[in-house]
Amino acid sequence: MQTLGEHIRMLGHSATLVIDSFVHDQYGEHIAAICAKHEVALTVLLVQGDLTPESIAALCEQALQSKAEVIVAAGGGKSLDAGKGVAKATGRPLITVPTVASNDAPTSKNYVLYDAHHRLLAVEHMRMNPAAVVVDTSIIAAAPRHFFLAGIGDAISKKFEAEQCFASVGRNMYDGQSTLTARAIAQACLETLLADGETALQAAGTGEPTPAFERSVEAMILMSGLGFESGGLSIAHALTRGLPHIPGVATALHGLQVAVGLLIQLDLEERSDNSLDTVRAWYGRMGLPTRLRDIGAQATSDEQWRTAARLTLEARHAANFKCQLDVDTLVSALQRHS
Ligand SMILES: [Zn+2]
Repeated sequence: MQTLGEHIRMLGHSATLVIDSFVHDQYGEHIAAICAKHEVALTVLLVQGDLTPESIAALCEQALQSKAEVIVAAGGGKSLDAGKGVAKATGRPLITVPTVASNDAPTSKNYVLYDAHHRLLAVEHMRMNPAAVVVDTSIIAAAPRHFFLAGIGDAISKKFEAEQCFASVGRNMYDGQSTLTARAIAQACLETLLADGETALQAAGTGEPTPAFERSVEAMILMSGLGFESGGLSIAHALTRGLPHIPGVATALHGLQVAVGLLIQLDLEERSDNSLDTVRAWYGRMGLPTRLRDIGAQATSDEQWRTAARLTLEARHAANFKCQLDVDTLVSALQRHS
């Protein structure tokens, strides 16, 4: 965290800190002290409630009143996404400071907005990626274990999604072709987590990062982020558009939805290798969800299954798959994993 001051000073002399009140209570004073030491004028914008188009607009209005040269977003996925919305609206560079490793947001230029029922509404994009990502693994290791588990769920899918995007000549997050580099990074992400994930999980929540924890955080934040933006996404992430319409699932952490989504994707791939069994067995050892009921799914009507499938297939990532799926096929796959 100490390097945050130096990174801000590379970009300007004043910063707006976008942060939720929980993280501000924990680290606000520390960040203010770092900024004071580096003679950075700091203003604070508190993020409250879900990130809806209205709440982002209110934050942007406040941010535009301050003339800060740099936006710093600190916290989990929501604060980082709010910071991205503010950075886009103000045209200022963004520094992200993730305090949990629960998702692939810190390095990326995209951010998500929700409706009033916490259902994913839209994916927006900054013009550029964050200028810097400052990760303090002692802070990440102090965060609750279930966030770390969700981050692993979000990262483990990237190799398989990039593979599908590449094979189907799909589009990555820059609307370009999936790159060899990104596939290599996504492969390294998978290998790192399979090798170190179980050991790393033991350090999660203790505040004391171990070498396996450090390597896993690099996989979950850096490799996962680069892997999906340049490698492209596929069914596992397309499902995050549909799954929240299954009763009980909407509040499950993104990474846990992706974890189950990957099993559904691997099932639909009809792979000749044993990836599905290998990944599912590893989930069992990690305590990751293997069925929709594990992420809260309750009794679901035919209409709700079909809505979930239809919205999944409408997501742009659904096109990055070896074949075109229809609603019936996807409903069957969802029900096999209920
Ligand atoms: Zn994700």
